Amino acid sequence: MKVMKFGGTSVGTPQRMKNVVELINSDNDQKIVVLSAMSGTTNMLYEISDYLYKKNPVGANENINTMEEKYQQHVEDLYTSDEYKQKAKDFLKQEFDYIRSFTKGVFTMFEEKIIVGQGEILSTNMVTLYLQEQGFNATLLPALEFMRTDKNEEPDLEYIHEKLKAQLDENPDYNIYITQGFICRNAYGEVDNLKRGGSDYSASLIGAAIEASEIQIWTDIDGMHNNDPRFVEGTQPVSSLNFEEASELAYFGAKILHPTCVQPAKFASVPVKLLNTMQPDAPGTVISNKTERGKIKAVAAKDDICAINITSSRMLLAYGFLRKVFEIFETYKTSIDMVTTSEVGVSVSIDNTTNLSQILNELKKLGTVKVDMNMCIICVVGDLDWRNVGFEALASDALKGIPIRMISYGGSNHNISFLVAAEDKKRALQALSNHLFND
Ligand code: ADP
Ligand code: ASP
Ligand code: MG
Repeated sequence: MKVMKFGGTSVGTPQRMKNVVELINSDNDQKIVVLSAMSGTTNMLYEISDYLYKKNPVGANENINTMEEKYQQHVEDLYTSDEYKQKAKDFLKQEFDYIRSFTKGVFTMFEEKIIVGQGEILSTNMVTLYLQEQGFNATLLPALEFMRTDKNEEPDLEYIHEKLKAQLDENPDYNIYITQGFICRNAYGEVDNLKRGGSDYSASLIGAAIEASEIQIWTDIDGMHNNDPRFVEGTQPVSSLNFEEASELAYFGAKILHPTCVQPAKFASVPVKLLNTMQPDAPGTVISNKTERGKIKAVAAKDDICAINITSSRMLLAYGFLRKVFEIFETYKTSIDMVTTSEVGVSVSIDNTTNLSQILNELKKLGTVKVDMNMCIICVVGDLDWRNVGFEALASDALKGIPIRMISYGGSNHNISFLVAAEDKKRALQALSNHLFND
């Protein structure tokens, strides 16, 4: 069985939904299809939640009405028969009444979690009804029945495997199983989600749970490009990546993949293909265990980074200093991305600044602390084993005109990271593309 995931743009209009249905039915293999919300819907639902937090039900209701009108129009464009138009209208009425019911009572993060997940409920029901109208053997598997996180907010792999298998066993005779990306329950059974862009993660978790033959991530671009196409011109798709390279790129900002979505596929050794719904014949990118030796593959950038430097004369020849520094970050549940050390100090970079002031107060007990905000990690990814002579020189050479705050190399065989000021991001990405790929 394979898994096919379609992102927001891919299901963004009734016509796109029809194209998706064509792609789903281009072979007769049994498949689980993971859908995102139609593009714009999740943002709109977050906006509605924001109005409700601010105790503005009028603003929320205006947005709900606009959304409902748009969806009712989709019914006319998507379905052919009166019977299915009516079924879809009834479903939408019930759905929007449900969303509206949240404008009346108290509004907390529990209600928010329910509201922002309705986009996936809408898209999956609409596509399932369309498949059924067209006579395809399709059914809906509700993600809230099997997708769950544990007390550490990590996916509960065993639970997902068991519950999904039970659901498939109960509904054995379908060719197409549609399910929602993004939404899940937490360890206490409450509705939750896998964070923005989390439908990729859903697909990877499902693919790993059923040991799928492959996981296809269908989106609006022909695979992972060698640089961020939103900032750099002339980027090219990369035909293959190994799991580690793809993980690094996703974690360090390649938006095409959710930061943690490669892990489940990697552990289950299920290949992931990145494909373009608008150009289905393009080869895209295959992510697997295979490594192309001695090649720099791609560049990505992660924004909103804060660099912290701690210097202490006491560090000179002192053991245990780094442990004390790292323990402070652990206490405040803040993960560190980059680390560089010298004899008298250490610099680290973090992206979560929620507890920054407490962290800084603790660090000041160990030495002199300096902070640089608004930084950006530029990450060069490929087979960068240290025996492959010259790659780090090539990357540094590309950045020779740009001030660099930190460099990290040797942490893995797949990554060289440079920390630069946010204002230099675009220039740095373009310089790397020119030097590494275009020359
Ligand atoms: P979906 O809604 O299908 O999940 P996303 O918008 O999340 O799609 O991801 C696709 C987008 O990722 C592309 O349109 C592109 O702008 C952006 N992107 C950023 N970095 C890369 C990259 N290295 N390769 C391809 N796309 C990238
Ligand atoms: N709909 C969700 C979002 O917009 C999840 C996803 O698209 O992957 O973040
Ligand atoms: Mg996405």
